[in-house]
Amino acid sequence: MKEILHRLEMEGINSGVCTGADWLQSTGDDLTSTSPIDGSSIATVRQASVQDLQKVAARAREAFEEWRMVPAPKRGEIVRRIGQAVRERKQELGALISLEVGKIRVEAEGEVQEMIDICDFAVGQSRMLYGRTMHSERPRHRMYEQWHPLGPIGVITAFNFPLAVWSWNAMIALVAGDTVIWKPSSKAALCAVAVMKISGRIVQSHGLPEGILNLVVGKGDTIGEQLIADRRISLISATGSVPMGRHVSERVAARLGKTILELGGNNAIVVTANADLELAVRAILFGAVGTAGQRCTTTRRVIAHNRIYDALLERLVNGYRQVKIGNPLEDGTLMGPLIDRVAVASMQEALGQLKREGGRVLYGGEVLSGGIFAAGTYVAPCICEAHNDFTVVQRETFAPILYLIRYKTLEEAIELHNNVPQGLTSAIFTNDLREAEVFLSHMGSDCGIANVNIGTSGAEIGGAFGGEKETGGGRESGSDAWKAYMRRQTNTINWSGEMPLAQGIRFELG
Ligand code: NAD
Repeated sequence: MKEILHRLEMEGINSGVCTGADWLQSTGDDLTSTSPIDGSSIATVRQASVQDLQKVAARAREAFEEWRMVPAPKRGEIVRRIGQAVRERKQELGALISLEVGKIRVEAEGEVQEMIDICDFAVGQSRMLYGRTMHSERPRHRMYEQWHPLGPIGVITAFNFPLAVWSWNAMIALVAGDTVIWKPSSKAALCAVAVMKISGRIVQSHGLPEGILNLVVGKGDTIGEQLIADRRISLISATGSVPMGRHVSERVAARLGKTILELGGNNAIVVTANADLELAVRAILFGAVGTAGQRCTTTRRVIAHNRIYDALLERLVNGYRQVKIGNPLEDGTLMGPLIDRVAVASMQEALGQLKREGGRVLYGGEVLSGGIFAAGTYVAPCICEAHNDFTVVQRETFAPILYLIRYKTLEEAIELHNNVPQGLTSAIFTNDLREAEVFLSHMGSDCGIANVNIGTSGAEIGGAFGGEKETGGGRESGSDAWKAYMRRQTNTINWSGEMPLAQGIRFELG
């Protein structure tokens, strides 16, 4: 553990506030990060006070004036160098993610790769911040639109993707010409400090002012509250639970600020009678058990056709039996711990409620104890029989619980599928073209992401990522998600020597 921290230039006690290369003497409380693997202390972060945040926000606003004038491809060059530096630290950053949030090593390194990929993507995007041109209805006039940098943006992130979510936002925001203030989850503060040590220094190494890429570690109800209320911050991008997002949305809307909301999911896979069950089982296993069920895109419901329900269940139980649970840093482990004991308790509470509502646990669900499981953070992933309208099924429990639900017709399956408050990711497994097309059509899945013969989790960065309904409607990462980080301006230029008005209006003296 010490070796990993050393290689990432981390100390026993670290400042949790920086404005790039400058790490402030933060004046908030100490936060000691403990590993969900064994409950041991990893290191301490000195959190930001409200005064620290004020300083950071002022610097971010000031730096914006200069950063926005750097040509976008030159901003892209800085992002390219961040990506390069992160490539060189991929293993260490991956190990720290495993230590702090309990992800298995391959998934943790995959997350670092996601940051590298978004850096590459953003570099290309820096030369493609395209506006359109339009034909004016007035003679000898030209109309076009252009995209300008927006301002300082606040990025609030969840614990479960401690690098990826910030980098999706920050790397695109940087090429867009925005400055960024990051408030990470307190459960993943060390990962934030580590990646900021690498990135902040690079941003500042070009004679640019401090304040372009900033970090404030602090509690949601103090630092988070202050951040979302700050009128200097043009956009708040918030990733986390639905209640958090609802609150952030209301607060930012009250000052007519902009938001990107990336909130909880309740993702389902429809497995039809025409599915390749082998493929479906592999996708469900990764989707439901991967990251110990702690992804926003985790498969939480399987809606299975009556005819294949029993065969699917048998194969799933067989697969679940083979999942090796244990230390996420060890080769062969497929499932590590949950983030903390609170998450374990909330899983147990959900299973209790499931039973009260008439559901059944078909496999797993128990808390593991003793030996390597002594931290009390390990559980057996769980398969349950349930009805879609159970209140426990309607909400997101951030744990590896999979609800199996039966259906008879595709219309019924889609009805069940869409009948939850959230709308993030979705999938259908079928070899029938018509079933697949119905699922993807207007009358099909109502989610932001809909897949065929691919599971619900593990999205690529090239597409726009996000979901509908209570998931918040935000889009991040690829496609044209960059537009949310810029302001659009429509321009009309008159080169005629006349003053014609639109819509043929005549407004002349005499
Ligand atoms: P959480 O809602 O508990 O916390 C998320 C962030 O919000 C943290 O940084 C927290 O400090 C901050 N926060 C809390 N109260 C705040 C306030 N009043 N003002 C400002 N900030 C505040 O979520 P979590 O437990 O860290 O993460 C799990 C949740 O995140 C799940 O619901 C999951 O689905 C969701 N998630 C969504 C996506 C997505 O892209 N849709 C991605 C990852 C996680």
